[in-house]
Amino acid sequence: MKKRARVVVIGGGIAGCSTLYHLTQEGWSDVVLVERNDLTSGTTWHSAAQVTNFGMNQTMVGLKTHSINLYKELANDPNHPINYNHADGGIRLASTEEQMQGYHHFASMAKGMGVDFEVIDAKECQRRHPLISTDNLVGGIWDPLDGDIDPYQLCHALTRKARKAGAEVYTNTPVTALDQYKDGTWKVTTEHGDIDCDIVVNACGYRVNEVGAMMGVSHPVASMEHQYFLTEDIPEIAQAGHRMPLLRCPISDYYCRQDKDGLLIGFYEQNCKTWGMDGIDPNFVNALCPDDLERVADVLDGAFTRMPALMKAGIKSIVNGPITYTIDGAPLVGKIPGKQNAFCIIGLRAGLGEGGGLGWLLAQQIVHGEACYDTWCLDPRRFTGHANVELTSLKAVEDYQNEFRFHFPHERRPAGRAAKTTPLTPILAAEGAEFTVVNGWERVDYLKPAADFHQSLTFDFDEAFHVVAAEVNNLTKNVGLCEVSGFNRFEITGTDKYDFLDRMFCGRVSPKVGKVGLGYLLNELGMVKGEATLANIPASERGSDRIWYGSAAASEFHDMDWLTQHLKKGENVQIKSLTNDQTILVVAGPRSREVLTACARGDWSKEAFPWLSVRECFIGFSPATVMSVSFSGELAFEIHVPNASLYAAYLALREAGKAFDMQIFGARAVESMRMEKGFLHWKSDLITEYDPYETGLDRFVKMEKGEFIGSSALRERQTKGPTKKLVSLKIDSISAPAHGGASLMDSGRVVGTISSGEWGHRTGMNIAYAFVEPSKAEIGRKMMLDHLGEMVTAEVIEGSPYDPSFSRILA
Ligand SMILES: Cc1cc2nc3c(=O)[nH]c(=O)nc-3n(C[C@H](O)[C@H](O)[C@H](O)COP(=O)(O)OP(=O)(O)OC[C@H]3O[C@@H](n4cnc5c(N)ncnc54)[C@H](O)[C@@H]3O)c2cc1C
Repeated sequence: MKKRARVVVIGGGIAGCSTLYHLTQEGWSDVVLVERNDLTSGTTWHSAAQVTNFGMNQTMVGLKTHSINLYKELANDPNHPINYNHADGGIRLASTEEQMQGYHHFASMAKGMGVDFEVIDAKECQRRHPLISTDNLVGGIWDPLDGDIDPYQLCHALTRKARKAGAEVYTNTPVTALDQYKDGTWKVTTEHGDIDCDIVVNACGYRVNEVGAMMGVSHPVASMEHQYFLTEDIPEIAQAGHRMPLLRCPISDYYCRQDKDGLLIGFYEQNCKTWGMDGIDPNFVNALCPDDLERVADVLDGAFTRMPALMKAGIKSIVNGPITYTIDGAPLVGKIPGKQNAFCIIGLRAGLGEGGGLGWLLAQQIVHGEACYDTWCLDPRRFTGHANVELTSLKAVEDYQNEFRFHFPHERRPAGRAAKTTPLTPILAAEGAEFTVVNGWERVDYLKPAADFHQSLTFDFDEAFHVVAAEVNNLTKNVGLCEVSGFNRFEITGTDKYDFLDRMFCGRVSPKVGKVGLGYLLNELGMVKGEATLANIPASERGSDRIWYGSAAASEFHDMDWLTQHLKKGENVQIKSLTNDQTILVVAGPRSREVLTACARGDWSKEAFPWLSVRECFIGFSPATVMSVSFSGELAFEIHVPNASLYAAYLALREAGKAFDMQIFGARAVESMRMEKGFLHWKSDLITEYDPYETGLDRFVKMEKGEFIGSSALRERQTKGPTKKLVSLKIDSISAPAHGGASLMDSGRVVGTISSGEWGHRTGMNIAYAFVEPSKAEIGRKMMLDHLGEMVTAEVIEGSPYDPSFSRILA
């Protein structure tokens, strides 16, 4: 066994094998995989191993396409072919028009990734899958490349190729300890000796937290028991003369594929069960849980009704095994938060279909620092402090119960709500708030006009449309108050803080005390990594002079990792998170200065406190830090208040606001208003697939300032010109916003992808942002949006159609 390697991948299921193979493909051959038993002896060996292309965002579709192409290549290897039933096709069924609308959106989105899904009616579903009835069926989405693969052969093919490229694989070699040296490298202790390495990868399936504990980490991954059975031969299958396509049923929660001349049917029962919460028997190897078909009785019925031929088929065997889930159902693939040189590929619930692509994206991150697609939807840092084991298991159960039911826009499921709240949450709830959830934080979406107000699950504008319009209208005329919970906030101190931030940001970082600036962080490839406001707070009795770094609520762990990993040895910079200690109250609208003046001592005039200023003060008697910044396009102030004083500050603001018709507004109103101003959202419009010029951030880049993270790569990109350009669009539809991922077409060709969309209540326009081919980016250019099954016109407009001169913000 080697004593040293560049990377040690722990775990020889599909996750580990794919990662190892792709590391060698990315050019790293000094890599090893250690497996406690044999390859595939965790979940992988008994997987139903369906390989699908369907995903709910472009990253998922892209990585699954990679899996399919890779598996095809492996299956066609003339020397070591493997069994892959490629392109049987598959149907996801729908029993409502709303589900069909969703499928239209996902088909539009996949088009941008070169994948052709087809939305078909009930009759056509039956024509393609002759075993099904059309009762209670509206139609479905057809995925032409669906199939299934032999998981054992797949993992062996991947490791064979990896070995050929120089990798080594040690089976029957349990890892028993992980220790990090001072220089950030690792010692991996196994039962057969130690391996020193630069980087470790946890790919341990349902044993993820045994290995996590070895490095002091608890991963938000829980296992569920999951069952399928195999039937005896079904004569109708042989009679059909073609292989049966795969089926996925969100009505009765089962999937089904052909196995020999019978079917394999798997179930997602409501009465589901977590597994291994109190530890896992060390001898649970190549093992299964006891059969329990009683438990799936609720969904079994639905499958029998849909496929009557099943009633006559005998059951050949039953498989019940552990399958891993995370808080949002998507895996955790990438850097482990708070750890240096440690990555994971865990929480895979569809690991055979996704594993090829996930290993590919992880290997790219390890070798190049970033993958070809933005991987935020997989990033282990997307969950923060709330992601404990109990919440994870609650969400795992909920997700399992909804396996094939996609999330609608604005849908917030009930499990694990109120994970993160502020003292105002119950107060705002009592005022009628409908909440959305941002990184676990409850955040007001809008105030319900009546207690029984109901919002439908739809891709169209929903019932809240007019409620949001009224919130925007009052704010535009008078003043509004909004709580922004969970906004990420770091306090940065130390004598080297400006030099450090100057290196991190692509723009100039102003050291002017009392001033606020907005800046962008790039990765080493010159692509947009982050966005933050920097507020220079003067020394006071509350502390020495310091910078407040503010960024999106979800970015807490991501940004902390990014900043700390770039600190130089000996640099005098301290970074402390205040995210959980403070909350923002935003006062916005033309009367907002008057509200401040009424409840906070001091001169709040435009001259004394112009746009982009910061000042410490008291709101009533509550200590606060006020910044004159605006995401709405109206005159606005962010009031940062310690949570202990939040309620008192709120009462003071409400009292002061009475004279000015102040009303609460929520996140939906903010979303509408920011779209009218051309303001961007992190991880919708600001993603690692584009550089700041492509994203329209030219004014925030100061190449002349010298070197900063990403500057040399950006210089090189500049010489090549942009691949895409971010534009604002007016969408010719009054029924539904453009949804992220939807395709823009020109002469039958995809020319762009929507990143955000919302109705602009002040401009009366249906506005969207999109990344389009540079030749399509000029104002007035028209193209077609593939919009929920219809083609509608999308026209490029000015980036800030509401108050382009910014006169309202500057008032
Ligand atoms: C019944 C069932 C049906 C499924 N059907 C499908 C399907 O149709 N399509 C699909 O895509 N997915 C399906 N899945 C899910 C899929 O099988 C899993 O997502 C996938 O197999 C997980 O692979 P993994 O590599 O993450 O984990 P595992 O296969 O569990 O591999 C983890 C490996 O890590 C090793 N390990 C653990 N601890 C240590 C240690 N300390 N030292 C060294 N090695 C260690 C284990 O021995 C194991 O081999 C199904 C799952 C189940 C249960």
